Amino acid sequence: MIRVPISEFLEIYLGAILLWLWTVWVGSNWIRNRRERRAQRTLIHCHICGWEYRDQSDVACPPCPNCGRPHERPQPTRI
Ligand SMILES: [Zn+2]
Repeated sequence: MIRVPISEFLEIYLGAILLWLWTVWVGSNWIRNRRERRAQRTLIHCHICGWEYRDQSDVACPPCPNCGRPHERPQPTRI
């Protein structure tokens, strides 16, 4: 059995908790940013008729369901 003073044990324990919290925070931010970028990419605004629609397909220029004009996907921007 390894003998560790209580003060060192608390330092290691708190360090492990802080590392775990930091990892969860970074991971959740990464997932949220990825979802926002995907949502920005699928939301398309038609400049001809003003229709706003979502397109989940992989088509580069999906046509507007209202007027039929193809539109390029918006580039994701940093918020
Ligand atoms: Zn349109």
